Amino acid sequence: MVNNIKKSSEKLSEFIYKETNRCVSCGLCVPHCPTYRLLASEADSPRGRIAMMSGVAQGKITLNKRFILHMDRCLTCRACESVCPNNVSYGQLIDHTRHLIVQSEHKKKSILRRFLERQLAFKPWCFNRMRGWFNFLQRKGLFLWLFKSGSFEKTGLIEQLAKLPPSSFPYVPEKNKSKTKPALWQTVYPAEGNKRGEVGLFLGCVARLTDVETLNASIFVLNRLGYTVHVPSSQVCCGAVHQHSGEPDIAFELSRQNESAFTGLDAIIATASGCGVQLNENSQSLSPVVDISKFLNMAGGWEAVNISPLPYKVAVHEPCTLRNMLKDHAYPYQLIERIPDIQMIPLAGNDQCCGAAGTYFMDQTELARKLRDAKITAVMEDDAIRYLVTSNVGCAMHITTGLHGMADKVEVMHPVTLLARQMGLQ
Ligand code: SF4
Ligand code: SF4
Repeated sequence: MVNNIKKSSEKLSEFIYKETNRCVSCGLCVPHCPTYRLLASEADSPRGRIAMMSGVAQGKITLNKRFILHMDRCLTCRACESVCPNNVSYGQLIDHTRHLIVQSEHKKKSILRRFLERQLAFKPWCFNRMRGWFNFLQRKGLFLWLFKSGSFEKTGLIEQLAKLPPSSFPYVPEKNKSKTKPALWQTVYPAEGNKRGEVGLFLGCVARLTDVETLNASIFVLNRLGYTVHVPSSQVCCGAVHQHSGEPDIAFELSRQNESAFTGLDAIIATASGCGVQLNENSQSLSPVVDISKFLNMAGGWEAVNISPLPYKVAVHEPCTLRNMLKDHAYPYQLIERIPDIQMIPLAGNDQCCGAAGTYFMDQTELARKLRDAKITAVMEDDAIRYLVTSNVGCAMHITTGLHGMADKVEVMHPVTLLARQMGLQ
């Protein structure tokens, strides 16, 4: 269903009032909520938030800073929605409430942030231009120096830039390799062997700079299985950040642009489950949007592929977007199982968000770090874990940052990256 259309305050309040009325306050969702578990406050639980939303929609509660604080602390992880016996659409409720907050003008993003979020969403090719410099500055340790200088200790974004491994460069098939590293992906990567279909690869915005390995691995595996991969240069950001921060009109424009960028394909492949949810729930495209792990599990051509054994333990992290929204969390396990000798376990506490949650790690840094600490503890408690796989770039970046300095012990990556390595991708 397309729900990212700008609405008037009256329409928003009407929707919120009707939907909150479906909540019977049973409280079944409360113990599943990560913010309730951390803060032990009803106002930071789904039931409490729903009651406050209802009060505001009816004009019984003032839309003030206190109300906004409790709405801002929500991760939009939708763990509550997935256990609700009454099927209350909590995701739509929080999106509509944030839209109402933006319309009330009680909360405004800084001009710089608004400019950057809009520019980078509509012109994600800017990230391609930054690639060389970004890689250089990371290798020279500039971001780490900034972080350690103390002034940026509380800034989630600088922490990530400082602690992430250097970004890499777009995929070039072995036969086309040259000494120059490309800044852009080819627009088409032809299938190898028997051709099975044509798919589009969704690059995302930040991911095209920070998750190049996953995008490259996806092209490599898809090509090997006989799929031609199209990478349209006119694709833009999925709009999830705008959708969940009260700017559905921008999310709507981005959806329309992506629909026209991807036409006539068997599927649009999303490698980040966060983008996958946004594309799935808001796109009117004729091509289905499918998570890479799900697509590969259903694809043919595996009989012609060699996969080297990997006798190590892999923990699987389940992003909220894959688990609570797409309900596709079984597929990464099935994909990794194709690697001979691998030992696979679900990461303890997979029902709880890691705290990355879009821009949450930047906006609610303290809470995000506490949620991440639980993941790091779960990894550290099992000495045998050598790899942690996760299907969402935001989670991967956030957890990698938390594991900084331990990369020789545990490597974080997308499941398709681990598989591609075992299939021979250098
Ligand atoms: S589980 Fe559903 S009905 Fe029960 S309190 Fe939570 S949102 Fe309301
Ligand atoms: S979306 Fe997540 S953080 Fe927000 S109320 Fe529901 S369970 Fe809690």
